[in-house]
Amino acid sequence: MQSENQYDIVIIGAGPIGLACGIEANKAGLSYLIIEKGCLVNSLYHYPLNMTFFSTSERLEIGDVPFISHGPKPNRAESLEYYRRVCSTWQLNVKLYEEVKSVTTENGFHNITTQKGNYKAKAIILSLGFYDLPYLLNVPGEDLQKVKHYYDEPHPYFGQNIIVVGAANSAVDVALETYRKGAFVTMVIRESAILDSVKYWVKPDIENRIKEGSIKAYFNSEIQEIKQTSVIIKTPQGILEIQNDFVLAMTGYQPPFDFMQACGIKFQNDEFHTPIYDEKSMETNVRSLYLAGVVCGGLKTNKWFIENSRVHAEMIMEHVKNRTN
Ligand code: FAD
Repeated sequence: MQSENQYDIVIIGAGPIGLACGIEANKAGLSYLIIEKGCLVNSLYHYPLNMTFFSTSERLEIGDVPFISHGPKPNRAESLEYYRRVCSTWQLNVKLYEEVKSVTTENGFHNITTQKGNYKAKAIILSLGFYDLPYLLNVPGEDLQKVKHYYDEPHPYFGQNIIVVGAANSAVDVALETYRKGAFVTMVIRESAILDSVKYWVKPDIENRIKEGSIKAYFNSEIQEIKQTSVIIKTPQGILEIQNDFVLAMTGYQPPFDFMQACGIKFQNDEFHTPIYDEKSMETNVRSLYLAGVVCGGLKTNKWFIENSRVHAEMIMEHVKNRTN
C-alpha cells in the first residue's frame, strides 16, 4: 500500500533503531516512512562532543553496513558519519524536522498528525528513545541560564566553579572531563557512593580523584536552591552555600510517557512504568502499534540500547509480514 501519505508502516523516530526498522520494512517490500522531529539520529547528535561509545563499532551496525572506526570503540562523530552512510546506502525514506503530534487509530488504520501534515498507516512503530525529557531537579533557580541538563564540551567551563549533579555514567564523565580541562568541580550526589553501574574502567578514576580531593563530592546530599552566584546544598553535615557559576544536572532522562499514553498504550504497574507489549512481536496493547528500541524499557533506560535492541526491527517486521500474508 502506498498512495500519497499512506503507508504500510510509519516509523516515528530516526534513531538507530528507527533506521533499522526502515531497513527491515524495505527488505520486506513494505511501503514505509520514518518521521523524525530533529536531525538524523537526533539523540546521538546531542551527546557530548567527546563521548566514546562503550560498544565496539560492529555491535552498533545495522543493515549489514560495516562500521569501521579508528579505535575499537567509536566516538560520536564516527557514529553520525556511520548512520548518515546507512541512510544513504539504503536510501531510507525519512522526513526530518517534523514532529509527530498525535496518533489515533480508527477502522484498522492509524492516523498520524505532524506539525507539517497528516499520514495514514496500517502499522506504526514508536522508536522514540528517551533523550528529550530530562529529569528536573525541581528546585528554585532551575530555570536560570547557568543550569544545563545536556552537556556538550568542557571548554566553556574552564576556570569556573561547576556543580555536577548525579553519580551515574554521564555525571562521572562530565566531572572528569571538565576537571581535566580546568574547571573547579563539585559533585552533589543523592546516593552514598558513585554508582556500581559506572563503566568499570572509569570508576576507579573518579573515586581516586574524589579521595585525593581534586574533585569535591557531597554524598547523601541534594541541591535545595540555585542562585545566580551560589548554590544551597543540603548535606548530612547541614546546609551549605557554595560559590557556583554553572550547574550541570546529569540526572537522567525519561521516555515521552504522555505521548505514548495518548496513543493508547497501557503500562505495567511497576516501578519503571514499563509499557505493555508482547516480547516476541513487540506489539503493544493497541493492535499493529509496535515499540522498538530504548523506549521499551520505560524508566529502566539502561535496559535496552543499540546493541541489544537492533533485533526489534526484525521481530516487528516478521509479525507485520505474517499478519499481512
Ligand atoms: P534514539 O536514538 O533516542 O532515537 C529516538 C528518536 O525519536 C530521536 O531522534 C527523537 O528525536 C525522535 N523522536 C522522539 N519523539 C518524536 C516525535 N514525537 N516525533 C518525531 N520524532 C520523535 N548504546 C549502545 O548500544 N552502545 C553504546 O556504547 C552506547 N553509548 C551511549 C552513550 C551515551 C552517552 C548515551 C546517552 C547513550 C548510549 N547508548 C549506547 C544508548 C543508545 O545511544 C541508545 O540506546 C540509542 O540511541 C537508542 O536508539 P533508539 O533509536 O531507540 O532511540
